[in-house]
Amino acid sequence: MNELVTLTAAELGARIASREVSSEEVTQAHLDRIDEVDGDVRAFLLVDHDGARETARRIDSRIADGEKLGPLAGVPLAVKDLFCTKGLATTASSRMLEGWIPPYDSTIVTRCKDAGMVILGKTNLDEFAMGSSTETSAFGPTHNPWDLDRVPGGSGGGSAASLAAFQSPLALGTDTGGSIRQPGAVTGTVGIKPTYGSTSRYGVIAMASSLDTPGPCARTVLDAALLHQVIAGHDSMDQTTIDQPAPAIVEAANQPDVAGMRIGVVTEFAGEGYDPQVEARFDEAVEILTSAGAEIVEVSCPNFDLALPAYYLIQPAEVSSNLARYDAMRYGLRVDDDGEHSAEQVMRATRGAGFGAEAKRRIILGTYALSAGYYDAYYGSAQKVRTLIQRDFEKAWKTCDVLVSPATPTTAFRLGERTADPMAMYRSDLCTIPANMAGSPAGSFPIGLSETDGMPVGMQVMAPIMADDRVYRVGAALERLLNEKWGAPLLAKAPELRGEA
Ligand code: GLN
Repeated sequence: MNELVTLTAAELGARIASREVSSEEVTQAHLDRIDEVDGDVRAFLLVDHDGARETARRIDSRIADGEKLGPLAGVPLAVKDLFCTKGLATTASSRMLEGWIPPYDSTIVTRCKDAGMVILGKTNLDEFAMGSSTETSAFGPTHNPWDLDRVPGGSGGGSAASLAAFQSPLALGTDTGGSIRQPGAVTGTVGIKPTYGSTSRYGVIAMASSLDTPGPCARTVLDAALLHQVIAGHDSMDQTTIDQPAPAIVEAANQPDVAGMRIGVVTEFAGEGYDPQVEARFDEAVEILTSAGAEIVEVSCPNFDLALPAYYLIQPAEVSSNLARYDAMRYGLRVDDDGEHSAEQVMRATRGAGFGAEAKRRIILGTYALSAGYYDAYYGSAQKVRTLIQRDFEKAWKTCDVLVSPATPTTAFRLGERTADPMAMYRSDLCTIPANMAGSPAGSFPIGLSETDGMPVGMQVMAPIMADDRVYRVGAALERLLNEKWGAPLLAKAPELRGEA
């Protein structure tokens, strides 16, 4: 493996800025790596070889001209195929949008381009970001680089797998119920869900608008912070964005110190349904934070157990409304458009052919939950539960600075294992959904491997709204302490790097 693909984004950016290496060389090394392994991993739906090389050359010449660019200039980036990219097909992994080429960039993609980042291509996801394994993608699943028979999590399995397979140093994700953190946890990478509203949704294909949160995916905590810094901030094109300066996340990532911090362990996220190996790694990580001077408190959040059922009413309700735009009239797929069929028939046939089973399931559930006569019982009750979860968080912040839990109840499961059982699939997000319901920032960080299946385990760190810096501080401390213990980052233990694959 070319050494360039093993370096961090921070290191690559520094070497490119000092002209020790060109962005073109770095970009080519990653494109070669994609060509080498993506037939097996299938992290990418589209690789923009020519576009990436062209951008890289342009950045190199600006640097040669003495221009001072940001820390990620010239660094490659993989983009979840939910972000609109001007001139590059954007599918949301759905037949409905197959071949659609957006006429504009999402705000976040614009910001990455302005920062001089090089877009390698678009990564696979569950259809419209609904799923926990990337198996609902209309274009086939992504495989977990740690074990190709296992899922990479979802919905952003492509982004997480691209990092774990050293195809890209950084990736963009979106997190509605866990789609950045859960794939991060099961691939041994870092995934951060920023405070809701601190990253723009403009040009991100809408799923559940009150929950959707774009964020960074990386192999190290500092890299995630550097990307987070590029993408965060108010956007006049998304009126839900917060008009406040972002917290000092890069500084926090450079301050790996938890001495005196009060860390709350959520008591509800343990026991039945949790893999004993996940619990063992979690307990060890808590122990390590304690020995680094953190004060550990046990915190009960009794309504967190209700987050999952409430989410599966609110999320489908918003999906049923957002996905109504795929009406065969404006853009995307259109079938039976032969002059013989009525508009209603074309619409029905198109939606029948264009959406996969999971999208249909959620549209039907959501339409039911919002229908007259059921609205109060389902959607209304779920909104009340959402308030109770927010109160659990507010109460917790009186006794602790951050909350921690396992990021997922189990390690990566085998492909096909949960596709026939939606409830088992939904339970993959048990630990991640509360932060979405409250809009809180949260991240997942690698804390070791299961001794049973050899797969990565992640710890989740949650913080109060607009205190994203605390997530980074704890994540950075974990990373420093565990790298010292292991003598190398967790990904250095990946089978291929050990020469076993
Ligand atoms: N797995 C969850 C779902 O299926 C969350 C998805 C997401 O965060 N995009 O809805």
